[in-house]
Amino acid sequence: MNNNTPEVLISEEAIQTRVLELAEQISADYDSADDLVMVGVLKGSFIFLADLARRLSIPRTIEFIAVSSYENGSVSSGAVRLLMDVRGNIEGKHVLIVEDIVDTGHTLKYLIGMMKSHRPASVRTAALVRKAESAEVDVDVDYLGFDIGDEWVVGYGLDYAEQNRTLPYIGVIKPTDT
Ligand code: 5GP
Repeated sequence: MNNNTPEVLISEEAIQTRVLELAEQISADYDSADDLVMVGVLKGSFIFLADLARRLSIPRTIEFIAVSSYENGSVSSGAVRLLMDVRGNIEGKHVLIVEDIVDTGHTLKYLIGMMKSHRPASVRTAALVRKAESAEVDVDVDYLGFDIGDEWVVGYGLDYAEQNRTLPYIGVIKPTDT
Protein backbone atom coordinates (compact mmCIF):
# COMPACT_ATOMS: atom_id res chain seq x y z
CA MET A 1 0.00 0.00 0.00
CA ASN A 2 1.16 3.52 -0.83
CA ASN A 3 0.98 5.87 2.16
CA ASN A 4 1.92 9.07 0.35
CA THR A 5 -0.79 11.71 0.39
CA PRO A 6 -1.62 12.50 -3.22
CA GLU A 7 -0.78 16.00 -4.42
CA VAL A 8 -3.81 17.95 -5.68
CA LEU A 9 -3.87 18.17 -9.47
CA ILE A 10 -7.54 19.09 -10.02
CA SER A 11 -9.41 20.54 -7.05
CA GLU A 12 -12.82 19.41 -5.85
CA GLU A 13 -14.25 22.79 -6.84
CA ALA A 14 -12.80 22.62 -10.36
CA ILE A 15 -14.23 19.12 -10.81
CA GLN A 16 -17.70 20.12 -9.62
CA THR A 17 -17.76 23.16 -11.90
CA ARG A 18 -16.68 21.11 -14.92
CA VAL A 19 -19.12 18.26 -14.21
CA LEU A 20 -21.98 20.77 -14.11
CA GLU A 21 -20.84 22.26 -17.44
CA LEU A 22 -20.69 18.80 -19.01
CA ALA A 23 -24.15 17.95 -17.65
CA GLU A 24 -25.58 21.12 -19.14
CA GLN A 25 -23.97 20.39 -22.48
CA ILE A 26 -25.25 16.79 -22.51
CA SER A 27 -28.75 17.90 -21.47
CA ALA A 28 -28.78 20.40 -24.34
CA ASP A 29 -27.43 17.93 -26.92
CA TYR A 30 -29.94 15.16 -26.28
CA ASP A 31 -33.64 15.67 -26.77
CA SER A 32 -35.65 14.78 -23.67
CA ALA A 33 -37.54 12.28 -25.83
CA ASP A 34 -34.27 10.44 -26.52
CA ASP A 35 -33.87 7.20 -24.64
CA LEU A 36 -30.56 8.03 -22.96
CA VAL A 37 -28.68 5.22 -21.22
CA MET A 38 -25.57 6.19 -19.28
CA VAL A 39 -23.18 3.25 -19.20
CA GLY A 40 -20.67 3.62 -16.37
CA VAL A 41 -17.40 1.75 -16.62
CA LEU A 42 -16.60 0.09 -13.29
CA LYS A 43 -15.04 0.72 -11.03
CA GLY A 44 -13.35 4.04 -11.72
CA SER A 45 -16.32 5.98 -13.13
CA PHE A 46 -18.73 5.43 -10.24
CA ILE A 47 -18.37 8.87 -8.64
CA PHE A 48 -18.20 10.79 -11.93
CA LEU A 49 -21.27 8.92 -13.18
CA ALA A 50 -23.20 9.60 -9.97
CA ASP A 51 -22.47 13.34 -10.04
CA LEU A 52 -22.99 13.71 -13.80
CA ALA A 53 -26.24 11.73 -13.84
CA ARG A 54 -27.71 13.78 -10.99
CA ARG A 55 -26.99 17.06 -12.75
CA LEU A 56 -28.71 16.16 -16.04
CA SER A 57 -32.05 17.78 -16.74
CA ILE A 58 -33.21 15.06 -19.17
CA PRO A 59 -34.53 11.54 -18.51
CA ARG A 60 -31.80 8.90 -18.26
CA THR A 61 -31.27 5.36 -17.12
CA ILE A 62 -28.09 3.84 -15.72
CA GLU A 63 -26.21 0.69 -16.67
CA PHE A 64 -22.78 -0.56 -15.70
CA ILE A 65 -20.09 -2.45 -17.52
CA ALA A 66 -16.83 -3.80 -16.14
CA VAL A 67 -13.58 -4.33 -17.98
CA SER A 68 -10.06 -5.08 -16.91
CA SER A 69 -6.85 -4.05 -18.59
CA TYR A 70 -4.19 -3.23 -16.01
CA GLU A 71 -4.52 -6.13 -13.57
CA ASN A 72 -3.91 -4.07 -10.41
CA GLY A 73 -0.83 -2.24 -11.65
CA SER A 74 -0.28 0.91 -13.66
CA VAL A 75 1.21 -0.39 -16.90
CA SER A 76 -1.20 -0.82 -19.81
CA SER A 77 -1.16 -4.20 -21.49
CA GLY A 78 -3.36 -2.94 -24.33
CA ALA A 79 -5.50 -6.08 -23.96
CA VAL A 80 -9.00 -5.39 -22.68
CA ARG A 81 -11.12 -8.08 -21.04
CA LEU A 82 -14.88 -7.85 -20.53
CA LEU A 83 -15.78 -8.74 -16.93
CA MET A 84 -19.45 -7.70 -16.96
CA ASP A 85 -21.76 -6.58 -19.78
CA VAL A 86 -24.81 -4.32 -19.46
CA ARG A 87 -27.86 -6.08 -17.99
CA GLY A 88 -30.65 -4.11 -19.63
CA ASN A 89 -31.60 -4.07 -23.31
CA ILE A 90 -29.93 -1.06 -24.94
CA GLU A 91 -30.97 -1.83 -28.52
CA GLY A 92 -32.36 1.31 -30.18
CA LYS A 93 -31.33 3.53 -27.26
CA HIS A 94 -28.84 6.39 -27.09
CA VAL A 95 -25.78 5.16 -25.22
CA LEU A 96 -23.41 7.49 -23.39
CA ILE A 97 -20.34 5.62 -22.19
CA VAL A 98 -19.03 7.24 -18.99
CA GLU A 99 -15.32 6.56 -18.43
CA ASP A 100 -13.04 7.77 -15.67
CA ILE A 101 -9.88 8.22 -17.68
CA VAL A 102 -8.63 7.71 -21.22
CA ASP A 103 -4.95 6.82 -21.37
CA THR A 104 -3.85 4.87 -24.48
CA GLY A 105 -7.47 4.80 -25.68
CA HIS A 106 -7.60 1.00 -26.09
CA THR A 107 -10.30 0.55 -23.43
CA LEU A 108 -12.62 3.20 -24.80
CA LYS A 109 -12.21 1.97 -28.36
CA TYR A 110 -13.04 -1.56 -27.23
CA LEU A 111 -16.07 -0.31 -25.29
CA ILE A 112 -17.46 1.62 -28.25
CA GLY A 113 -17.25 -1.58 -30.34
CA MET A 114 -18.88 -3.57 -27.55
CA MET A 115 -21.74 -1.11 -27.21
CA LYS A 116 -22.30 -0.98 -30.98
CA SER A 117 -22.73 -4.76 -31.02
CA HIS A 118 -25.92 -4.18 -28.96
CA ARG A 119 -27.34 -2.11 -31.89
CA PRO A 120 -28.05 1.13 -30.03
CA ALA A 121 -29.43 4.23 -31.78
CA SER A 122 -26.15 6.07 -31.08
CA VAL A 123 -22.97 5.81 -29.02
CA ARG A 124 -21.19 8.80 -27.49
CA THR A 125 -18.48 9.02 -24.88
CA ALA A 126 -17.79 11.05 -21.75
CA ALA A 127 -14.53 10.94 -19.80
CA LEU A 128 -13.46 12.86 -16.74
CA VAL A 129 -9.80 13.01 -17.73
CA ARG A 130 -7.66 12.15 -20.73
CA LYS A 131 -3.91 11.75 -21.02
CA ALA A 132 -3.63 13.39 -24.41
CA GLU A 133 0.05 12.60 -24.94
CA SER A 134 -0.43 8.89 -24.20
CA ALA A 135 -2.90 8.15 -27.00
CA GLU A 136 -2.07 5.03 -29.02
CA VAL A 137 -5.38 4.76 -30.85
CA ASP A 138 -7.64 7.41 -32.29
CA VAL A 139 -10.82 7.58 -30.24
CA ASP A 140 -13.27 10.45 -29.83
CA VAL A 141 -14.28 11.76 -26.42
CA ASP A 142 -17.48 13.74 -26.97
CA TYR A 143 -17.64 15.14 -23.43
CA LEU A 144 -14.25 15.62 -21.78
CA GLY A 145 -13.57 16.97 -18.31
CA PHE A 146 -9.84 17.67 -18.36
CA ASP A 147 -6.69 16.92 -20.33
CA ILE A 148 -3.74 16.00 -18.11
CA GLY A 149 -0.12 14.94 -18.61
CA ASP A 150 1.26 11.43 -18.42
CA GLU A 151 1.10 10.82 -14.67
CA TRP A 152 -0.79 8.36 -12.49
CA VAL A 153 -3.83 10.01 -10.94
CA VAL A 154 -6.12 8.94 -8.12
CA GLY A 155 -9.28 10.19 -6.43
CA TYR A 156 -12.84 10.95 -7.54
CA GLY A 157 -13.27 7.24 -8.32
CA LEU A 158 -9.74 6.56 -9.55
CA ASP A 159 -7.49 4.23 -7.57
CA TYR A 160 -4.01 3.00 -7.22
CA ALA A 161 -4.18 -0.66 -6.12
CA GLU A 162 -7.74 0.02 -4.82
CA GLN A 163 -6.64 2.96 -2.62
CA ASN A 164 -7.71 6.60 -2.78
CA ARG A 165 -10.93 6.19 -4.79
CA THR A 166 -12.98 8.36 -2.44
CA LEU A 167 -10.77 11.46 -2.40
CA PRO A 168 -12.91 14.45 -3.49
CA TYR A 169 -10.12 15.78 -5.72
CA ILE A 170 -7.86 14.29 -8.38
CA GLY A 171 -4.34 13.87 -7.13
CA VAL A 172 -1.02 12.53 -8.30
CA ILE A 173 0.98 9.75 -6.69
CA LYS A 174 4.06 7.93 -7.80
CA PRO A 175 3.35 4.25 -8.54
CA THR A 176 5.84 1.90 -6.95
CA ASP A 177 5.85 -0.66 -9.80
CA THR A 178 7.24 1.50 -12.60
P1 5GP B 1 -6.44 2.89 -21.69
O1 5GP B 1 -7.03 1.66 -22.26
O2 5GP B 1 -6.99 4.16 -22.27
O3 5GP B 1 -4.93 2.85 -21.77
O4 5GP B 1 -6.69 2.86 -20.16
C1 5GP B 1 -7.89 3.21 -19.60
C2 5GP B 1 -8.01 2.63 -18.21
O5 5GP B 1 -6.73 2.59 -17.55
C3 5GP B 1 -8.86 3.51 -17.37
O6 5GP B 1 -10.20 3.15 -17.46
C4 5GP B 1 -8.28 3.27 -15.99
O7 5GP B 1 -8.87 2.16 -15.41
C5 5GP B 1 -6.82 2.97 -16.22
N1 5GP B 1 -5.92 4.12 -16.01
C6 5GP B 1 -5.13 4.71 -16.93
N2 5GP B 1 -4.44 5.72 -16.40
C7 5GP B 1 -4.81 5.80 -15.10
C8 5GP B 1 -4.45 6.66 -14.01
O8 5GP B 1 -3.64 7.59 -14.09
N3 5GP B 1 -5.05 6.40 -12.82
C9 5GP B 1 -5.94 5.39 -12.65
N4 5GP B 1 -6.46 5.22 -11.45
N5 5GP B 1 -6.31 4.57 -13.66
C10 5GP B 1 -5.75 4.77 -14.86
